[in-house]
Amino acid sequence: MINDWQFDAWRALPKQGGKLPHALLMIGRPGLGKSLLADTFAKSLLCESRDEHGLPCEVCQACNWFSQGNHPDFRRLQPESMVPESEDETPTKKEKKKSDQIKIEQVRATESFLAIGTHRGGARVILIDPADAMNAAAQSALLKNLEEPPPDTHYLLVTSRPQRLLATIRSRCMVMPVATPDPQAAAKWLKAQGIDEPELALAGAAGAPLAVLSAAQLEPKRREFLNRLAAASFDPLALAQSCDTVAPAVVVGWLQRWVYDLLATHMAGRARYNLEAQAAIEKICRPLDPAALAGLMRRLGEARALAQHPLNARLFFEDLLLQYRTVAGRPVVQAG
Ligand SMILES: [Zn+2]
Repeated sequence: MINDWQFDAWRALPKQGGKLPHALLMIGRPGLGKSLLADTFAKSLLCESRDEHGLPCEVCQACNWFSQGNHPDFRRLQPESMVPESEDETPTKKEKKKSDQIKIEQVRATESFLAIGTHRGGARVILIDPADAMNAAAQSALLKNLEEPPPDTHYLLVTSRPQRLLATIRSRCMVMPVATPDPQAAAKWLKAQGIDEPELALAGAAGAPLAVLSAAQLEPKRREFLNRLAAASFDPLALAQSCDTVAPAVVVGWLQRWVYDLLATHMAGRARYNLEAQAAIEKICRPLDPAALAGLMRRLGEARALAQHPLNARLFFEDLLLQYRTVAGRPVVQAG
């Protein structure tokens, strides 16, 4: 169910029961709650007793099925890597890496679902989240299905990167931008989640409440990463190995802000992001070459673009951290 700060976005959705578009594409920055909004909307389309706001009742048979993930008139397309592991799954010896893409087979599998009537005689919903995870073949297959969907079939697509979708897919959807929520409502909710100074945190996350929450959950990892990076002699290979529990783009962001602070402190005497580490930053940046730091910043910017889907995250970070050590690492003083 959506959070209080999502009610404005909820009200902006097309009304169930009226003439709904075949396909709705929700777009907006990460952290604005698009997935929760889309899930709740899907549930409401299937619910047999919506409330006066159009929200799902949470008690009918349809809502129960949806919550348990087995509503017969609902399909969710997502990358294999995002499917939560079930507890009774026996772990295989050498786990194959799960795909980050939504593949054509997944889109094709919905075709038999569409070919038969709905089980409950109501709507049928296909949720694709994140829609930009569809590879080219999957997008082409979806395009065909979007051309002539059976009646009462609704596609919900969610993405923070609409430019990765075929223009022809976008044009077949009603595009719903999900706006930044009211900051007061968002701050109140964040406070209830245990976030200190939620207004400040929200401003730092450009108003995206869930971005604040995930950053807070990652804070211990971020501190550990930067502590190891700041240590007089750090081991790039060992540090790269410890990066594999956090999304690569997040770690590159930590590194980018850290190197930015080294350069800013070297040039202007002051860090911008890692204020709690100002003293350490001053010590590290003093002997460094600002031109080399600026070059490293540029390469990190390029790495950020690749960080969404690195072929091998370990090698990706080994390379970046070796580059960092070349520019900012300090020689270990040999005793004797
Ligand atoms: Zn219901």
